[in-house]
Amino acid sequence: MDCNRCDEPAVMHAAYSGAHLCEGHFVESVETRVRRRVRRDDLVSGDATPEAPQTWLIGLSGGKDSVVLTQILHETFAEDPRIELVCLTIHEGIEGYRDKSLEACLDLTDDLDIPHEVLEYDEEFGVRMDDVVEDDPENMAACAYCGVFRRDLLSGYATDIDADLLLTGHNLDDEAQTALMNFLEGDVAQIAKHFDASLGPLSERRESEHFVPRAKPLRDVPEKEVALYAHLRDLPAHITECPHSSEAYRGEIQQLLYGLEENHPGTRHSILAGYEELAGIVAERYDDSEDGAELRSCRECGSTTTREICRKCALLEALV
Ligand code: SF4
Repeated sequence: MDCNRCDEPAVMHAAYSGAHLCEGHFVESVETRVRRRVRRDDLVSGDATPEAPQTWLIGLSGGKDSVVLTQILHETFAEDPRIELVCLTIHEGIEGYRDKSLEACLDLTDDLDIPHEVLEYDEEFGVRMDDVVEDDPENMAACAYCGVFRRDLLSGYATDIDADLLLTGHNLDDEAQTALMNFLEGDVAQIAKHFDASLGPLSERRESEHFVPRAKPLRDVPEKEVALYAHLRDLPAHITECPHSSEAYRGEIQQLLYGLEENHPGTRHSILAGYEELAGIVAERYDDSEDGAELRSCRECGSTTTREICRKCALLEALV
């Protein structure tokens, strides 16, 4: 089959749009979607100037998603002095897992000449995920601990360097899975939180004095297309399964979505579009509600929380 836009052979077929694209047009279409998302989400603040540039912190894991995001943002803004990119990689302390992907991160940021920081759970918190799963004082899945620690380091570092945006490489599949999980778990508060943290209008989120706004410019691109883009461009992405991966429920939702997408192409896009609209309505309702928890500083570390001690400090206390 030939490309819809030229006579070259197609390297991919997107059932949801009917497009058959050759290598060149496929690469261009991924980049176009990311740049369009940057524009639609208004990520470049009107206040950004060459004299007072915005700092965008990218959470770079070394997997295909964050590597593709970093590459495309670098190419988009390399000549734009209003935007400065910085990358942060987090080392969880998992034997044989992060070392290879850290190499991929270093290759990429060296190649693109992007400032890059590496933070380790061990150095920052005195714990390694390999030990956390052994102790497991809260009888929780490994990812439940790891997610709390990772979010804390990402947002803490974003605040430390006075970043204007914190960007992550969530793709369309990730976001459609999260949307469906929140619905199926009936977790309305989580839907409101998700909207407030990373989906709502950036102009409003920029006003928060407590959190650096998050952005997910890759969320219109399906996971398989991100992987194909990384492969075609020969990017140094490292794909390996974490030995503590425990997101069994997400795996079930992923399989469900594969089946739905196969039989009803476009399902992921429609789930996400509907979810974002509904989440906005839910977030407004939660903002107005009287039982909205008040934000305060954690007694131990000073980070913003709704409790006396933040979740990260509570977990660390349980671990020692
Ligand atoms: Fe952490 Fe879970 Fe990711 Fe492993 S799979 S790095 S435990 S969040």
